[in-house]
Amino acid sequence: CGVFGIWGSEEASQYTYYGLHALQHRGQEGAGIVSTNGNGLQVIKGEGLVNDVFSNLKLDDLGGHAAIGQVRYSTESGRGIENVQPLVFRSTTGSLAVAMNGNIVNAAELREHLERQGSIFQTASDTEVLAHLIKRSSGSLTQRDRVKKALSMLKGAFAFVILTEDSLMIAQDPNGIRPLSLGKVGDAWVVASETCAFDIIGAECVRSVEPGELLIVNRDGLHAERFAPTADSAMCSMEYVYFARPDSDIEGINIHMARKRCGKQLAREIGDIEADVVTGVPDSSISAAIGFSEESGIPYELGLIKSRYVGRTFIQPSQSLREQGVKMKLSPVHQVVNGKRVVMVDDSIVRGTTSKRIVKMLKEAGATEVHVVIASPPLVSPCFYGVDISTDSELIATGRTVEEVRELINADTLTFLSPEGMLDAIGRPDTMKNCGQCLACFTGEYPTEIYADTVLPHEK
Ligand code: 5GP
Ligand code: SF4
Ligand code: MG
Repeated sequence: CGVFGIWGSEEASQYTYYGLHALQHRGQEGAGIVSTNGNGLQVIKGEGLVNDVFSNLKLDDLGGHAAIGQVRYSTESGRGIENVQPLVFRSTTGSLAVAMNGNIVNAAELREHLERQGSIFQTASDTEVLAHLIKRSSGSLTQRDRVKKALSMLKGAFAFVILTEDSLMIAQDPNGIRPLSLGKVGDAWVVASETCAFDIIGAECVRSVEPGELLIVNRDGLHAERFAPTADSAMCSMEYVYFARPDSDIEGINIHMARKRCGKQLAREIGDIEADVVTGVPDSSISAAIGFSEESGIPYELGLIKSRYVGRTFIQPSQSLREQGVKMKLSPVHQVVNGKRVVMVDDSIVRGTTSKRIVKMLKEAGATEVHVVIASPPLVSPCFYGVDISTDSELIATGRTVEEVRELINADTLTFLSPEGMLDAIGRPDTMKNCGQCLACFTGEYPTEIYADTVLPHEK
């Protein structure tokens, strides 16, 4: 998912709309904006793309000097309008809107506990757990302390934006797993999952929200405090590999440049490879393919074309939709690949749907050899932190050797980037464990506790 928030601009709702538009790649199944003028919360949300959900007419209804929004990347049974965020909770003691990117690994436990105390949940979403925790924590505490107490009970990955009539609150989990940046446009504070949402509204990136940090913006300005001590920093590696937009920076590192370095590193790790052209799989692996080409000296070509009118296929909630999606989405350029030995660079292999189809497609278009090179290590473990990297049984690399995977996708050769090579190429400071990155889906070593009843996002 992608989240956005802004405080202190008469254009708050418009800016949120533009911000969500820039974050559209992070979720395409629903979008919502909640705004306030200090008196109540106004909400518009719906299923589908940002453009479909908001028309100018509707945006004019929102108004206000503060707003939050979300684009939703939903999963099998978490679909439906009731799960589209921000979720709004109205109450006589003050209303609250909440949007989140991530997955709370102890949500089932907290939910059960809350239900035993009488809470009734309206959605399948973890976000609602936070709202109940905030509302239930008792009496004499200030709102700020209630929010801190509630946040401190959550485990997992969460980047929150919370809007009340008198404040915008922003929170990042203690490991800082999902990206979240703080910026400024004029006098207004803004927050977004990715910095590309700042560029589009002319905002400047100030810094990343720190792990375990709670930021409160209200009429007194910005106030930073902590709800938890910083744990080992564990920024999601897949943000660098696949998820984020190339023009975004995460913790000071530009995504395009990081991917390009991964491509170069891959070329160095492969060593000698005989081929005529390098091609990327649009859009996510173009950067890595350019890097591979530069380092190997094999010319980069447009071997595959993507239809602009098909969304992200991976995000489709079922395998048949994904397969149909790949077919509609990508076509080979015959003149480029016919009679050629092709290096096909992709950012990752998850279920193998894309690679397998593309190898077939390139061979049918006349490629004499197809060498598949992947700008990340094999994915072998599920993600519990909000990226839909499914169950082990669906991951093509789990329990298989590289050679077995190669055979399944019918490539002439298959090479993955090494974990060390990837960390090195991304280029974060190596003073922290794993350079402060989460590598769990590559290694099975999770940066947080995982509970027996931890529910994978796509199982909700
Ligand atoms: P596969 O087709 O092997 O199941 O998935 C790999 C392809 O899906 C890659 O081309 C990658 O760009 C794309 N992809 C889309 N969403 C995701 C995601 O959430 N994680 C990963 N790793 N790849 C994704
Ligand atoms: Fe990202 Fe993988 Fe960690 Fe999930 S398990 S947060 S996808 S690095
Ligand atoms: Mg791709």
